[in-house]
Order: sequence, then C-alpha cells, then structure tokens
Amino acid sequence: MPHWQNWSGRLASKPDQLSFIYSEQQAAALARACTTSGSSLRAVGSGHSHAELVVDGDVIADLQALSGIISADIDSGTVWVGGGTKIFTLGPALHRHGLALPNQGDIDQQSISGVTATGTHGTGASLQNLSSRVIGARIALANGDIVECSAEHNSELWQASRLHLGAFGLITALQLQCVPAYRLAERSWKLPLQELLADLDGLIADNRHCEFFWHPQTDTADLKVINPTSAAPKYPLGSEGERCSWSYEVLPNHRPHLHTEMEYSVAAAQGPACMQAIQSLLNTTFTDVRWPVEYRTLAADDVWLSTAFARDTVTISVHQDVNLPDEDYYRACEEIFLAFDGRPHWGKTNFLDGTQLEAIHAKWQDWWRVRDSVDPSGTFLNPYLQSIRP
Ligand SMILES: Cc1cc2nc3c(=O)[nH]c(=O)nc-3n(C[C@H](O)[C@H](O)[C@H](O)COP(=O)(O)OP(=O)(O)OC[C@H]3O[C@@H](n4cnc5c(N)ncnc54)[C@H](O)[C@@H]3O)c2cc1C
Repeated sequence: MPHWQNWSGRLASKPDQLSFIYSEQQAAALARACTTSGSSLRAVGSGHSHAELVVDGDVIADLQALSGIISADIDSGTVWVGGGTKIFTLGPALHRHGLALPNQGDIDQQSISGVTATGTHGTGASLQNLSSRVIGARIALANGDIVECSAEHNSELWQASRLHLGAFGLITALQLQCVPAYRLAERSWKLPLQELLADLDGLIADNRHCEFFWHPQTDTADLKVINPTSAAPKYPLGSEGERCSWSYEVLPNHRPHLHTEMEYSVAAAQGPACMQAIQSLLNTTFTDVRWPVEYRTLAADDVWLSTAFARDTVTISVHQDVNLPDEDYYRACEEIFLAFDGRPHWGKTNFLDGTQLEAIHAKWQDWWRVRDSVDPSGTFLNPYLQSIRP
C-alpha cells in the first residue's frame, strides 16, 4: 500500500493509490475516474503543509512533472507555469526572462500550486501573498473537464480558486503576474526585543522587507531587513543575513530542523500588542519552549480566503520541535490570537471548526458555493475539508 507523509513527518497517510501525473489529459482522466468510483482525490505539492490538507484522500496525485514556464509575455510580466513547478526552479526560470516574483516565503521548496493553495507569503508591508499573483488557472475538474479561468473568463472560479486548498480540482497550470527581475541586499542583527518593538513602525516603513525572530527565555531578537540594491550580485552568496544578489537568491532560507508551526494573522496595528501577549505566555506558562516566534508583515488583498483579505496584516508564527508535544502550547496561543481577531494560516496548525472559520472569512459561503458548483459530489474533499464544510 502506498505511503505518504508530510515534510515534518507528523502527518502520514496510506492512500489506495499514489498517482504521478505527466499530462493535463492524465489529470483529467484521473479526476473523472475518481468521481465515477466515488474515491476522494487530493493533490500534493511538496508536502510542506502542517495542516491536514493532503492526508486521508483515497487517491493522492503528484503533479511535479508538470513543471516549468509554458509561456511568458515579457511586456506584461505574465507567465504560464506548470502547476507542479517548484519555487526553487521558478526563480531561475523567470530570471532567464528578466522576471521575478515580487516576494517569496522563508523557503523555496514548495510547489506553485501548493503555495497558492494556502496563501503562502513572505514579509513586506507593501507586498501581498502569492495567491494574489494568480491571474489565471487551468484546472482538471471532478467531471474530467479542463477549465481555464481568469478575471475575464469564469471569473468567480478564478477569484475563489486563487487560494484553493486543493479543493477545486487538479491545477495543471497557473498564470502569474510577475515583476521585472530585481536585486536585493539583506542585513541582520541582534537587539533587545523591547528596543525593537519601540522602533518597529519605522523599521517596517523604511524597509521593503522586515521580519524578526524572538527567542523565548531571552531578551534578544534577530532582526532582518532586505532592500532593493543596484549592487552587483556577490557570489558565493554567503549566509542568511549577508546576501546581496537577485531576489530569488536572497529571499529563501535553509530551514532544516523539523518542526510544527501555528501562524495567525492579525490587523497590522494589533501586531505589537499581540506579540507581547504571546511573549508573556511564553515567559509565564510555557517556559520550556525554546523555538522562536516569528513576526512578519503582509499587505491587504482581495483573495477570498486570504488571511490578509481587506486588511493590512502582521503574521505571528509559533513553532515547536516535531518530537515534542505542542497541542497545549498551540491552543493557548490560539486563544490569544483569536482575542486579537486573528486568522489562521491555511497551511499550518489550527483547531478551528467550520463555524469559527466562517466568522473569520467574509467570503466563506461564496468560496464554498463556487467550489461545490465544480465538484458537487466532493471528489476533492478529504475528511478535514468535509469537517469544516458549511
Ligand atoms: C519549513 C517551512 C517553511 C515555510 N515557510 C513559509 C513561509 O515563509 N510563509 C508561508 O506563508 N508559509 C510557509 N510555510 C507553509 C507552506 O508554504 C504551505 O503550507 C504551502 O502550502 C506548502 O506548499 P506545498 O507545495 O508543500 O504544498 P502541500 O503542502 O503539498 O499542499 C498544500 C495544498 O496544496 C494543494 N495542491 C498542491 N498541488 C496542487 C495541484 N497541482 N492542484 C491542486 N491542489 C494542489 C494540496 O492538495 C493541499 O491542499 C512553510 C512550511 C514549512 C514546512
């Protein structure tokens, strides 16, 4: 029996079938066959989600063979890419066309359909998440049709599926809005957390990217700022905090230590107070947790299930070693995040039910209406998604 597990190993699954997809036609045939047989079908990207998005599908489809740039329009900065393209191959491929993603997350191991599934983001108060970059999609639907959608054609399907949770069909290709290739220089240094919080508004305003990690049981934070530069790339790249090169070479980091993670988004103005509440929880109650707390910014967008929907945002992430218990810690953090009107990251741990998620997401019912219209029998729903369905 096939076995699948996610990046951290915390989530595992024994699907009836693990299917590698090499063509759009094959994706469509698999979707139709699953619907006919009543099997649930989930796609997998790079398995970097901590949330139960892939587990317990009867069939798991791996689309990483659908990779690379299909077409590029340099003048408009738009590209079609295969749905399974990994971010670490996308950066250099876009660069060959003089283009780049406007922002990237902490790592670049994920797939493009995986990052857009969950609203994956980097840091930068003027920069939106990766789902907001999707301007078109080709999807193999449950009935075996291939549909193309954009703001002009099948616009509701496009709007809903920009952040798709793998629930609309198998995404065979995405059209992305890119920007001209650009270079970045990063700088990082340590400073006392209270000093950092006192200067935070200015640091966020003055730098294209600004983020920090606070280390529990210390007074110290690691601050990193990244800004555009006209300096030539410096090779070898050097360590995180000292790189100067093209954006796709500076933004991603190496994060080898297996962990679990909870992340919530709060309104930007609430960020410092929420951070202090989490700090206080760690100082008083969870004094044995050593994994850092990460603080980033994210611009408002209009993506239906985005955690930054209509709200400039601060994201706060808490982590724990994959081999240590995390539930009590995460539940206590979640209580704080919810008191700050927080919205959970779709790819990370949360304990919310459908009613709570509906209260958080203004477009919840619309998202499900559009989703159900293309997959009425629920082929693309696994037990987790069934559990939060209205
Ligand atoms: C070390 C680490 C660092 C991270 N850093 C960040 C960060 O900086 N910022 C951030 O926001 N998040 C971050 N994340 C979270 C991560 O970016 C998200 O969970 C992302 O969704 C994972 O992408 P993936 O390709 O691994 O997709 P998976 O986890 O494999 O799948 C995610 C979803 O995408 C769907 N999917 C994948 N491919 C397809 C397809 N072709 N068609 C249809 N559905 C598909 C799956 O069904 C599932 O619903 C990090 C995670 C880890 C483990």
